[in-house]
Amino acid sequence: MTLLAGKVALVTGGSRGIGAAIARRLAADGADVVLTYARAAEQAQAVVADIQTGGRRALAIAADSADPQAVTAAVERTVAEFGRLDIVVNNAGVFAYGPFEDESAESYERVMAIHVRAPFVAAQAASRHLPRGGRIITIGSCLGERVGAPNMTLYSMSKAAVIGLSKGLAQDLGARGITVNVVQPGPVDTDMNPADGEGADAQRAGLPLGEYGRPEDVAATVAHLAGPGGNFITGTAISVDGGFSA
Ligand code: NDP
Repeated sequence: MTLLAGKVALVTGGSRGIGAAIARRLAADGADVVLTYARAAEQAQAVVADIQTGGRRALAIAADSADPQAVTAAVERTVAEFGRLDIVVNNAGVFAYGPFEDESAESYERVMAIHVRAPFVAAQAASRHLPRGGRIITIGSCLGERVGAPNMTLYSMSKAAVIGLSKGLAQDLGARGITVNVVQPGPVDTDMNPADGEGADAQRAGLPLGEYGRPEDVAATVAHLAGPGGNFITGTAISVDGGFSA
């Protein structure tokens, strides 16, 4: 497919799970792809190798999304090495679970830094380069709109914040023809939330479709938004959650 031919995408947290599927899918649709990771260098390189085998350019950058300077540097390096930046996908994420009374200041800072500050900083850096038709897509969560169970206050709060971030950015960048949206997965089978993990059956029970989603299901919606299908979609949150929020 060539819907994204000539485009350059940056995917944070592209070494595993949903981010890896997004990186592969955008490349399959014709984009050159830069992905970041925190620790999984080998897995990041495997995604890069797959994309290169498919004929597209790819690069993996070690960049901890908790560090705003690393996020900005990843944006700048993308432009320096690939010549442009068209699509930013803020995907890097960590799960946080437990009584909110016990959440440490460090944990609060880290979750908010990765989920909220990093997309904000990435948007600031990217906005200096994104052309008309540019895209900013942030991976939120169905828990950002409906929490449904205890012990997820910090995580849900951080995922709700990206809705406000994206609506604001949609207003700020709309005149330049740049769209900004959130994609909200429900239970998706990854290292973060394995379909055979503890608590998986409870999540399955809340899914009208009865099964976990696959990373590729989320990637398909990101690809739609990144391509011409997303031309008139901005400032919104799209759930890819098997009906979890229904
Ligand atoms: P995984 O744990 O499977 O993968 C997480 C990815 O994010 C990895 O590539 C990891 O890199 C990267 N990452 C984590 N922390 C950082 C960091 N500080 N800096 C840079 N990269 C980082 O998670 P998923 O694929 O399941 O989740 C992807 C996104 O989807 C997250 O934002 C998550 O909150 C969201 N989501 C997931 C759901 C699910 O059910 N799976 C449901 C709803 C939302 P490395 O390999 O180097 O550790």
